[in-house]
Amino acid sequence: MKMKVSRRGFLKVGGLTVSVAMIMPRVAFAARNSLRSMRTGAQPGNKTRLVIETSARPSYSLSYPENQLVVDIANMSANASVKPTLASGTLVSAITQTQSGDHLKIIATLRKPIAQLQKSQIMLLEPNGDNDYRLVLDFSAGAAQKIADSVAAAANAPKATTKHIIVIDAGHGGKDPGCIGKNGTREKDVVLSVAKKLRAKLDAAGFKTYMTRTDDTYLKLARRAEIAEQRKGDLFISLHANANPSRSVKGFSIYTLSEKASDEEAKKLAESENAADKIGVDGFTEFEKEIRAALSSLQQHAVAEMSEEYANGCARAFRSNKIEAQAGPSVRHAPFAVLRSTVPGALIELGHLSNSSEEKLLKFGAHQDKLVAAIVRSVKNYNFDV
Ligand SMILES: [Zn+2]
Repeated sequence: MKMKVSRRGFLKVGGLTVSVAMIMPRVAFAARNSLRSMRTGAQPGNKTRLVIETSARPSYSLSYPENQLVVDIANMSANASVKPTLASGTLVSAITQTQSGDHLKIIATLRKPIAQLQKSQIMLLEPNGDNDYRLVLDFSAGAAQKIADSVAAAANAPKATTKHIIVIDAGHGGKDPGCIGKNGTREKDVVLSVAKKLRAKLDAAGFKTYMTRTDDTYLKLARRAEIAEQRKGDLFISLHANANPSRSVKGFSIYTLSEKASDEEAKKLAESENAADKIGVDGFTEFEKEIRAALSSLQQHAVAEMSEEYANGCARAFRSNKIEAQAGPSVRHAPFAVLRSTVPGALIELGHLSNSSEEKLLKFGAHQDKLVAAIVRSVKNYNFDV
């Protein structure tokens, strides 16, 4: 049984996986994968870690014959020169390679049976420094009965939904108007209007959508992030409009979460967007503590990477749809409170209300449709499946 797994699935704790099929990214195609290294290590809590390093992103599935863990990687040949490095005190006593057509089966012989791996025990790391792609599997000894139970449960489980979940956040609301244009246009109204249009278009395109607010209500920033978590969002999109002391500044810009602002302007913006809840940009450390407790550093890294990928794609979609970009980098980073969750996402500043021509545009239905079309395009282009 193969199951398509959303990349967000990595970050969800719990849930059942019988076999995890990694889908090749749509862009990178057909380069033959090669095996670089295989190693095991002992982790705290009697856990065994198996790391398989490959030259390209592996398309793989897992299976669990008796006392074995088999990693089947597509588009790969056996390579006898790659010898496994086995640490002592782990569940793996040997690792062998077996060619099966175009697939390479990497077979780990286990000292004790294990339960089926959960998504939270599987991590795919991007290349960095001296490392290529690494498939990291963490597991510990588990009852054989448990395996039988999970197989039965999986067989009875309803078919997983294929709809990806998008959480749309219209910034500000209620007592917090956001920024206000020279002609009185309020950020909270513009972004709510765009959010509603966006929801309709995404629903029509087959996504499952939720909105943090559907009317003129005030919501705390942390509450918005919490909604993204509760709805198990695959993607979180926070909509805003900008203001700049210089009325000539205009154009869109897109932000992802980071502890440090990428530039002074991004820092100021995060301060003003956080201001409604009186959260300073230095409040990030508190968040770090909480999130660190809930997530491994690998998962945090994965959230940041997915957000970055989405934001870059979103900037491309805006440019393709001929929406004017703010001068400077289209994607910037700053400690926005609303982005502090485990859901990948971005904050989009649709344009500047402080610029009179853009203030007019942002109120204009046809321009809002254009913005919505760009965001829909960015969501469709986003690679939800690794
Ligand atoms: Zn705002």
